[in-house]
Amino acid sequence: MRSFIPYSKQQITDDDIAVVCAAMKGEYLTGGTAVSEFEKALCKYIGVKHVVVMNSATSALHVAYLALGVGVGDEVITTPITFAATANAALMCGADVKFCDVKDDGNIDENLIQKLITSKTKVITAVDFGGNAVAIDEILKIARQNGLKLIDDASHALGSEIDGVKVGNHADISIFSFHAIKPITTFEGGAIATNSDEYANLARLYRSHGIVKTELWDSDMSELGYNYRLSDVACVLGQNQLKRLDDMIAVREKIARYYDERFKSQTKFSIVKIEPNKRSARHLYVVLLSEKLAQKKAEIFKKLHEMGVGVQVHYKPTYKFSYYKQKYGEIYLKNAENFYLRELSLPCHQSMSDDDAKYVADTFLSVLDEFGN
Ligand SMILES: *Cc1c(COP(=O)(O)O)cnc(C)c1O
Repeated sequence: MRSFIPYSKQQITDDDIAVVCAAMKGEYLTGGTAVSEFEKALCKYIGVKHVVVMNSATSALHVAYLALGVGVGDEVITTPITFAATANAALMCGADVKFCDVKDDGNIDENLIQKLITSKTKVITAVDFGGNAVAIDEILKIARQNGLKLIDDASHALGSEIDGVKVGNHADISIFSFHAIKPITTFEGGAIATNSDEYANLARLYRSHGIVKTELWDSDMSELGYNYRLSDVACVLGQNQLKRLDDMIAVREKIARYYDERFKSQTKFSIVKIEPNKRSARHLYVVLLSEKLAQKKAEIFKKLHEMGVGVQVHYKPTYKFSYYKQKYGEIYLKNAENFYLRELSLPCHQSMSDDDAKYVADTFLSVLDEFGN
């Protein structure tokens, strides 16, 4: 029997295992030189001045909001079509979140941001959904015109580009995730990328208790910080994975193009096209079912899983979680609702063979045929 093909999956090579084993025999399991080496490699890859790695993207988001001075009484504008952590981290700082509706590709609609801005707004947080970069220039312009800061939650988008420039260079602070199934992994992990010395310094402080060594045994704690550090063992894995990132993206790109070709003349669903001036890390391959088929999505999902095709749905709009309903009451954003209703992410990852991709496309098309149109 064919094994289940998940929508995304890590790739761990023998070489990854070897570097991790070597690091475990090293002098420092954490707090050693592997951390800054991984950070340097990421700076070079992205083309950005500073990278500060942390133990998750959620930690990185929290630190980013703190570094931008987000606190009680402030508002953050973000998209509901993201993992909960994007908004949660703003709440952790005591701020409030205003949700902005999305476009057909699942990215925040830059044309709707302006009217959500109030005197309390401090930060706009965009998310490069599935690896497809947001309209960052337009969003940055809105931020600057209104004296706001911009965070780019690029958890899906390490390796994505706009006009040949890597995602991670445009916003005040960009966020990356190294969770197991994100573009590269350190088991759990994340990072901020920034060109600002000030934000990078603050991020380093918040990452490690707000404490700096002064002299001999003495130290000072100047901020209320956290322990958001990433271990050396995790960092060597990340650095080894980073060497293969472009190869892994190439595999995902090949699968995505194959799907595009297979799906180009059908009418049961639409696909999200990546604009020609962009490169996507292809974290997700997104299809949007027709309104009619979307009504049967639960059955389609079940049937595909039975047949070993591990589709997933990204994302339940954040404001639909009971916690957010209690906090903000009922919210309804038309495009976000419609996107959530219709969206399916098809398997697309570096551990899939050409034959796996063919099986996914064949199975997906035949299952949809069973359900009409
Ligand atoms: C995965 C993800 C996060 C959280 O990442 P962790 O590293 O698991 O904390 C945040 N934002 C987005 C968009 C994500 O996909």
